[in-house]
Amino acid sequence: MSIAEDRETPAVPAVRTEVEVAIVGAGLAGTVLALSLARAGRKVALVDPHRIHHDEFRAEKTRAEQMGLFEKLGLGPVFRSLVTPMTDLHVFRFGHLFERKQAWEYAFSYTPLVNGLRSALPPQVPLTVGKVAEVFTGPDRQRLVLTDGSVIEARLLVVATGYSEAVRRAIGVERIEESKAHSLTMGFDFAISPQEFGLQSLTFYGRRVADRIAFLTIFRIGERVRANMFVYRTVADPWVRAFRENPQKMLLELMPEIAERCGNFAVASEVEVRQVSLTTTQGHRRDGVVFIGDAFATTCPAQGDGIHRVLTDVDCLTTHIPAWFATPGMAADKICAFYDDPVKIAADERAMRASIYARRITTETGLEWRLRRLRNNTARHLMIFARRFREAGKPSDARPGVTGVAFDHSDEAGQELPAGPPLGT
Ligand SMILES: Cc1cc2nc3c(=O)[nH]c(=O)nc-3n(C[C@H](O)[C@H](O)[C@H](O)COP(=O)(O)OP(=O)(O)OC[C@H]3O[C@@H](n4cnc5c(N)ncnc54)[C@H](O)[C@@H]3O)c2cc1C
Repeated sequence: MSIAEDRETPAVPAVRTEVEVAIVGAGLAGTVLALSLARAGRKVALVDPHRIHHDEFRAEKTRAEQMGLFEKLGLGPVFRSLVTPMTDLHVFRFGHLFERKQAWEYAFSYTPLVNGLRSALPPQVPLTVGKVAEVFTGPDRQRLVLTDGSVIEARLLVVATGYSEAVRRAIGVERIEESKAHSLTMGFDFAISPQEFGLQSLTFYGRRVADRIAFLTIFRIGERVRANMFVYRTVADPWVRAFRENPQKMLLELMPEIAERCGNFAVASEVEVRQVSLTTTQGHRRDGVVFIGDAFATTCPAQGDGIHRVLTDVDCLTTHIPAWFATPGMAADKICAFYDDPVKIAADERAMRASIYARRITTETGLEWRLRRLRNNTARHLMIFARRFREAGKPSDARPGVTGVAFDHSDEAGQELPAGPPLGT
């Protein structure tokens, strides 16, 4: 199984390394797995083409549930040192304050987060900077040949290469597009300081179906005030070009209430845009190799479940690995225990179901979906009315009511998230 386009003439004498687990890809999934396995005393090799994780627009916010998983994996202190915590979350609907929640969220830039986690790798798990030229997998031994000729042999191979297809293709697995160009995530900075912003996190929901907006969220990352907007459009949509050309004008038209909260704001950076498709993997149940994180499946960023899937994969894998290594061989029957783990299945299904539901409730115009929206929005208008009624008698400096509801992106974007049937039924 060779990756022909990556092949280069070996420049240094071939080195041969033998480990228990070889991980290809040192993004969030690969790095967190390497850290967890190193803590468990496993001999690990971690391979990535870039010593410093390249700058890219990815996840910038996560919530308490994921912090719990970082803690469980023993990475709570490292993660906390790399993020901006928030606890006071203001949620707006129909131009009005809908809810004020006290719940933990954590903001970060993805590249520094991954690089910070990488710098926590112990000396016995150095990052091998290199490209994989050939991959051989089997029921007992796995073998990676890098483009410099060095060889890594392992009992178990873990593929954590995110969206990249080269290694996946070399092994022979296929990515299935469940929903092509499902959503678009836009990221940009506001030209106000955190002190001027004065708040921790604001979320504004789209008002009109025709706008195809899930929501906009504004939050602090260190000394920056950052915005993420999730829309159901394609990159080629003229609306997207118009937004990139004049984001401030478009935001004021779409959500004028932002100005009340953020003053005379301006957008201080280019608008970064990433299209995401919902994908799953086929042909992955094979000897010796496991696919995790975005290398296994991709879901919609609006639901904030990508990091949850990554951490759940790592948690499940580190649970299964001791039993796999206790007996000879690494055939597919062992590997399948990971894919069939109910915790992993539940996390993947939740993310996929929420991704599909959120888009439908936001954009579908059929009778069923119009009725669902009417029901949800009527309930929300009543809640806003009740809040205003409750607060009418309070002194003007009294805080708006605070709820203790745990933050849940699926609720945020999907409005209601039915239990629903398992995927594929
Ligand atoms: C715009 C955007 C916004 C998002 N927002 C959120 C959010 O708010 N909340 C949330 O939970 N999730 C969000 N997500 C999803 C989340 O970012 C991903 O699920 C998560 O980062 C996946 O991590 P990963 O380690 O699987 O992949 P990656 O981080 O992509 O890591 C892949 C690694 O593999 C390496 N690699 C690639 N090819 C090779 C090769 N041939 N050999 C060796 N190494 C290779 C790369 O260099 C990289 O280091 C968002 C995604 C996007 C695109």
